[in-house]
Amino acid sequence: MKIGVLGAGQLGRMLALAGYPLAKDFVFYDMSGNPSAGIGETIVDPEGTRLGDFLSQVDRVTYEFEHLPVEVASELEKHKPVHPCPRALEVCQNREAEKTLFGQLGIPTPKWQVADNAATLKAAAKSLGCPVVAKSITEGYDGKGQAVLRSPEEAEQAWQSIGHPRVIVEKFVDFRREVSIIAVRGEDGDVAFYPMAENTHHEGILRYSIAPAPDLQPHIQADAEGYIKALLNELNYVGVLTLELFETKDGLMANEMAPRVHNSGHWTIEGAMTSQFENHVRAVSGHPLGNVSARGLSCMINIIGEHGDIERILELPYAHLHLYNKGERPGRKLGHVNVLADSYEELVWRVKNCAEFLPGCPDFISSLTAKG
Ligand code: AMP
Repeated sequence: MKIGVLGAGQLGRMLALAGYPLAKDFVFYDMSGNPSAGIGETIVDPEGTRLGDFLSQVDRVTYEFEHLPVEVASELEKHKPVHPCPRALEVCQNREAEKTLFGQLGIPTPKWQVADNAATLKAAAKSLGCPVVAKSITEGYDGKGQAVLRSPEEAEQAWQSIGHPRVIVEKFVDFRREVSIIAVRGEDGDVAFYPMAENTHHEGILRYSIAPAPDLQPHIQADAEGYIKALLNELNYVGVLTLELFETKDGLMANEMAPRVHNSGHWTIEGAMTSQFENHVRAVSGHPLGNVSARGLSCMINIIGEHGDIERILELPYAHLHLYNKGERPGRKLGHVNVLADSYEELVWRVKNCAEFLPGCPDFISSLTAKG
């Protein structure tokens, strides 16, 4: 079976790496002109004239990034199965549609309103109560196109800095930590949930994911599973779906979802019985889902901007290195290290040790380190 992947970045690369042992082949379709998957065949098509060529080579289509035109996915769907469905893409590309769907399914979110000029932004900030976060409705990711307003008076400046015709304004959440849940749904409707991860961001980019999230109360995992299951079933979804959430003292609030394998699930490559990548390939191909249990305790460390002392990391007996074969550039995701341990104490020690070889890696701050 040949799987066509829209997008050709590191997520596509890792999908292919997981799919080859299952005898899958991959063809990537890249509209950015800058593919980095470096594996399988890649059709580079910034003009969008070679879709027919792509289609003729593949049996099924999936995607590894969500910022591609929905029309492309809908057109492809007329000819070949496309998993997940284009509606999932449509919802994820628009924060207003996404938060509306969450509300319809009873998934809690921060209180929100929409604004389409500086005056309505100011009014929204007043009525929600500052601080609030304003985010462009479309095209935002990794904290880009966002501004925090500490008072309604900052509306004009925030509006200018975002530079987008429509924004969503959210009440700022006083969260304990950021967490995510990754689930997979098969063609037959079977659903499996990975243990949740605790995620630490720095300058808007994910740096560390610990899984299973330490000290997670079982009802929190159960709530998250209920929310993501509602989304999977509503969208008649096939493949891996990620839901990012805030954990507060009153429970969970959803932030956003991603219709794909996710950076906060990279720990599953060695840390789970079946990785998120293999399970996505299984689902998209119509196979049964694999076991999603954790093998132990894991922490994923992202390698951002510079590679650091790769040779020293390779010497660590508990570290698994994954490089994406990309050039160094500030803020760019170049790879990740999965660190495994039998106890959280050991995990902290190992992660700190490993992070020393990664220049620019922020201190390991998490619920584990906060306890001292
Ligand atoms: P997003 O692009 O929506 O994932 O936001 C990027 C980051 O901004 C999140 O990972 C949070 O750290 C922070 N953030 C986003 N929305 C809120 C919110 N309503 N309250 C507090 N922090 C937020």
